[in-house]
Amino acid sequence: MLNASVWRHALGVDRATVIESVDFDEEAESVVIHVRPRRHTKRRCGICGCRAPGYDQGQGRRNWRAMDLGVLVCHLQSDAPRVKCPTHGPTVAQVPWARHGAGHTRHFDDQVAWLVTHTSKSAVAELMRVSWRSVGAIITRVVADARAAKDPFEGLVRIGIDEISYRRGHKYLTVVVDHDSGRLVWAAVGRDKATLEAFFDLLGEERSSLISLVSADAAEWIATVVAQRCPNATLCADAFHMVAWATKALDEVRKGIWRLARQIGAPNLIAHLKGCRYAQLKNPEHLTDNQQQGLARVAAVNKTLYRAYLLKEQFRLVFQLRGREAVRALDAWCSWARRCRIPAFVELYHRIVRHRASIVATLTNDGLSNALVESTNTKLRLLTRMAYGFKSTDNLIALCLLDRGGYCPALPGRNRSSASAFATLG
Ligand SMILES: [Zn+2]
Repeated sequence: MLNASVWRHALGVDRATVIESVDFDEEAESVVIHVRPRRHTKRRCGICGCRAPGYDQGQGRRNWRAMDLGVLVCHLQSDAPRVKCPTHGPTVAQVPWARHGAGHTRHFDDQVAWLVTHTSKSAVAELMRVSWRSVGAIITRVVADARAAKDPFEGLVRIGIDEISYRRGHKYLTVVVDHDSGRLVWAAVGRDKATLEAFFDLLGEERSSLISLVSADAAEWIATVVAQRCPNATLCADAFHMVAWATKALDEVRKGIWRLARQIGAPNLIAHLKGCRYAQLKNPEHLTDNQQQGLARVAAVNKTLYRAYLLKEQFRLVFQLRGREAVRALDAWCSWARRCRIPAFVELYHRIVRHRASIVATLTNDGLSNALVESTNTKLRLLTRMAYGFKSTDNLIALCLLDRGGYCPALPGRNRSSASAFATLG
C-alpha cells in the first residue's frame, strides 16, 4: 500500500486530516479511505468553528463522497461525533475535508461548482455521478461559504436594481448588481418594497449612505425605498428598460394595425405586416437585405406604422449619446412624440416625462453601463431555466450568485487567484 502522504496529496487534503487505512469495496466498486481529523483540529462546532466539549458519538461512522480516483468512485469514511456548542447546542463536529452538513468533500463541491458555470447541466450530473438536485445543494454551500469569508457588499458605490422573472413569469427575483465591479451582489425572491428593504437592512445605514447612484427600471417601489434608504443616491433610469418600453409601444401599434387590416380584409397589408415584424424589432444595423426591403414596404403601405418605427429608433438612439447632446435629443424626441397622434407613443411620451429626472441622470452620468444591466438580465434568465429541478429558490439564487457574482471556485489542485475569477465574468 502507498504511504499516507501520497494519499493525502492525491485527495488534496492537508495535514489536519489523518489517513488511517485504505480499503476497496468490491461490491460497490469504490475505494474507501478511513480518515480522522488530527487531534488539535478536533472538537469544534461544525457551524461556527468554536471549540466545544464533546457531546456524543452522533450516528457513528459516516461517508463523504470524494473526487473519483481514476475510474473508481471514492469515499472518505470517519466517525462523526457531536459537540455541545454554547451557541448551537449539540452539533456534528467540524471536519477539515468537508463543509458542514455536506455529504461530499470540499474538493468535490468545488469541482461541481466550477463545472456548473462552465458546462451543461447533463454533463455535470453525468461526469460527477450526482443528481441535479444534489448539485443545487452543493453550489448553495459553496456560495454561502465564499460569502461568509468576504464581505459581499464591500465598496458598493453605484448599484443597479432589477427584477427577473422565473417560473414562466409567475415569480420574481429582485437582484442588485455593482456597476463598478460588474458583479451580481445580492438576489432575493419577490419584487416589492419589503424585498428591497431586506437588502438595505443587510447593507446597513452607514454603507447605504455611501451609495451615490442607483440605476433601475422606473418601478415605483424601487424609487420609494431608494429615496428612504439611500439619502445620497441619484436614481437613474436604466436605458435597457426604457428602450424596451419603446419597443413594446411599437409592437402595440403593429398589432392594432394588423387587427384593423383583418377586420377590413386587406390581405396585402396583412402579408406585409407579417413579413416585417422582426425587422421592426431589430436594430437597423442588424437587418438582412430582405428585412430592409420589408421595412421599405411598410413605409409605402402604412405610414403610421413606419412613423412608430422611426419614433422607436429615435428613442433608442438617445441612449447612445451622452451628456447635453443626449438630453437635447431626448427633448427633441419628446416634442415629436407629444404631437405624433399615435396613442401608444403619446402614452409613452407621458411616461417619459414623468421619469424625465431619472432619465436625464442616466444620460449625464458617465460610465453607467447599460450593457452590464442588459447582459446580466439575459444571463440570469438563462440561469433561471438551468435551475429547473433544484429543490428551492435558495439553490436558484446560489446559481445566479455563483455565475454572476464571481464566486466560481478554482478547480481543485490548481491555484488561481480570485482576481482572475472575476476576470472571467463576461
Ligand atoms: Zn457553534
